[in-house]
Formats: sequence, C-alpha cells, structure tokens
Amino acid sequence: MRVFKFGGASVKDAAGIRNVASIIQQYGLKDLVVVVSATGKTTNAMEDVVKAYFENSDTKAAFEVVKNNHQQICNDLFENKNNEVYDQLQNIYAEVDWQLEEDRKESYNYVYDQLVSQGELISSVILSSYLKQAGIPNTWLDVRDVMKTDDTYREAVVNYEKTQSLMDSIVVPILKQNIIVTQGFIGCTPENCTTTLGREGSDYTAAIFANMLNAESQTIWKDVPGVMNGDPRVFSDAIFIEEISFNEAVEMTFYGATVIHPKTIKPLQNKNIPLLVKSFINPEGKGTTVGGKDVNLPPIRIVKNNQVLITLHTKDFSFVEDEVVAELFAAFFQANLKLNMVQQGAISFEAVVDNIPEKIDKVKIALGNRFSFSITEELSILTIRHYNNLDYVHKIKGEKTAILEQRRPSTYQGLLS
Ligand code: ADP
Ligand code: ASP
Ligand code: MG
Repeated sequence: MRVFKFGGASVKDAAGIRNVASIIQQYGLKDLVVVVSATGKTTNAMEDVVKAYFENSDTKAAFEVVKNNHQQICNDLFENKNNEVYDQLQNIYAEVDWQLEEDRKESYNYVYDQLVSQGELISSVILSSYLKQAGIPNTWLDVRDVMKTDDTYREAVVNYEKTQSLMDSIVVPILKQNIIVTQGFIGCTPENCTTTLGREGSDYTAAIFANMLNAESQTIWKDVPGVMNGDPRVFSDAIFIEEISFNEAVEMTFYGATVIHPKTIKPLQNKNIPLLVKSFINPEGKGTTVGGKDVNLPPIRIVKNNQVLITLHTKDFSFVEDEVVAELFAAFFQANLKLNMVQQGAISFEAVVDNIPEKIDKVKIALGNRFSFSITEELSILTIRHYNNLDYVHKIKGEKTAILEQRRPSTYQGLLS
C-alpha cells in the first residue's frame, strides 16, 4: 500500500480539489491512504478565530471567513445541494460554534487545538465527498480514532504503541475494502480531546501511516518539481535534485528546508520506505526520491528567518562549564526552545533561536539570577550544505554580514544581519 499526502496548496480551491481527484484516479485507486491538510491558508484563518476568542472580539466574523471560502469551493464542486457534504460541514461548524461558546480562556493551547484542527476536518470531508461524486469510492476516517497522542497541545507527542494497535484494528480492515481519506496534523488525547502535532505537521502524519502500515512508499504532492537545492522562492537559480539519502534529507529539514516537515524522515527511514516529493502541478514529472543515494549533490542552501541571538554572560565571572552548561541547556529545554546555533566562550554563551517571545521570556526567568542577557533580533541563518569553497559562500551571502559563523567540512552556517 501507499500513502499520498496533499498539502494546503494542492487543495486551495475547487480546481485544486479536481486536480487531486485526477491524480488519485490516475495513480492511486487501490491500497491507498490519502492524508490531507487544511485548504490554502485555512490554518492561518483559524488562528485568527483563536485570536478573536482570546481578545473577546468578533469570533463569528472571523469564522465566517473560513465558512465562506469553503462555501465557494463547495458551490463550485457540488451542483446537487442535497450532497451529504453540506450536512457534514454544518456539523463541523456547529462544533466550532459550541467551542466558541465555552469559556476556556485559561487554556490557550487547548483552545487553539480544538479550533485550529477543524481546518483539516473540513478539507477532508470535502475531498472525500468530491471523490465519491467523481466515482472514486473511499472511506473518510477521523484520524483522531487512531492517532493517539499525549496532551501537549500544539506539539502533541504521538503514542506509537496505541496508534499502531489502532492502525492494525481499524485502518487495515478498511484498506481491504476501500481507499481512505483522512486528516494530517491532528490527533487525540486519551481523554478524547483534539491535539495538533505542530504547524506543517501533515507530512509527519503521513509518515506515521506509512511506517505503521509498512507502506511501499509515501508521496507528498507539492507545488515544486521536487526537492531543489534551495527554496525556489528565495533562490531563483534553484535546481531540481533527483535523489537524496535519508541522511541528507534529515539534515536539510533540520536546518530549515521547509519542503518536508523535519519529523517526517525518521518513521520512513526506520522502515526504509522511500519518500517521493512530487509536483501536483506536473504529476507526470519524476519527482525527488528521498531514501536513495547522494550522487554529486549540488550545494544546498537554506535560509531560516526571524532568528534572535541571545548573548548570556555569567554575572559572577563563573566559567561556562560543568553545571553552568547543564543549567543553560536545561533552561532552553524546559522552555521548549530549540537551539538553532550555539557558541560558547569563557564566561559567555550565545544561542540563536526562533523569535518566540513567550519561550524566550521563560529562559530569561530561569537564568536571570546567574546571567545577564542581551538580545539581537531580525537575524537569519544561512546554511549551505556541501558548500565547496568560501568564494561560493561569499557569493550567496551577498551584501549581508555574518555576525556568527561556523564551518564544518559538510556545512557552513552564518548568522546574518
Ligand atoms: P504543503 O502544500 O505541503 O504545505 P509547503 O508549502 O509546506 O507544502 O512546501 C512546499 C514549499 O516548500 C515550496 O513552495 C517551496 O517554496 C518551499 N521550499 C523550501 N525549501 C525548498 C527546497 N529545498 N526545495 C523545494 N521547495 C522548497
Ligand atoms: N494545516 C496545518 C498547517 O498549516 C498542517 C499542514 O499543513 O501540514 O500548519
Ligand atoms: Mg505546508
């Protein structure tokens, strides 16, 4: 069996959904799990609903935007106004209205997940109904029936054991009858509350299905020909890469190549399941195979924006060693703030992190007694894998200055201002 994942860009409008149906028709009528993201920018629009809820502003108006977008898609796709899709959407909307009436203002992350997860429920209901109308029988699966997580809302951790057992008892029998359409990004706690796996997490959901069902491959359908040696939106000279290893993919995504969610690689690598990155715009295209060999890789460029440099100095001139180092790392770990670059001096420590003010504040509180802080914002990290020589690095850096640089034979990293 195989797993296909269609992201927001592929289902952003009615034409997109028709295109997805034609890809499934051509390439995947049997033994297939289809994992779908929310349409277009719906997740951001649902974040606006969350914002309205916590600011006590007009949640109805914010949610109306989401409803109208989907109404337009449905008007275009479903001529028969008695199609089951309309009732199913009404049920989801009623669930949202109910959530909005509840007073749970003390639990931001919980409320966020209950609301933002609805985007995937909506898109999957529409896709499933459209496929049926187009003569492609399928079973819509509520992924929360199988994807069991802890209750770390917004970054839920999948319980592999429970999920595997539900895959075996629920998903495998359905697959014997029908292809499945389900949601990426969302999961469910033991108390039956909805969770999300982190923004852009649908690639990861698909990889969990592939791993647990021992898929022969996973395909993620994107708006690019495949993996390129840089985001084509940033590097106009980016070229297509036919094949890369799991190792290269895990490195690239770790450093911030957003074409694949970083957590996607491990479940696939663990079972040696190839990941195909293909274009939904040109489905005949070969696409990139992840899980192959790295043959003559070109330099691969990755830019991570919105970075902050935190410089810490010990107030009492203690060296940054031993338990001081342990305390530093523990503070970042407890704030759940990933260290994108670090550099250590005698009595100083420099950490480059994503600009997430509430997490940075937690670090400050944890370390404030021992360290003085200074913070530089609006930076970006340029990573170049296989950079060959420094002339190449200078060319890519252009006018920007690097305020922190690290070089290994395989990887250059510069913090650019
Ligand atoms: P999805 O529709 O699945 O959410 P994304 O928008 O998250 O897809 O990922 C596709 C985007 O990733 C492309 O439009 C491209 O701008 C970006 N991207 C970043 N790095 C790369 C890369 N190395 N190769 C190809 N695309 C890249
Ligand atoms: N819809 C979610 C997001 O935009 C998950 C995903 O697209 O992968 O973050
Ligand atoms: Mg995405």
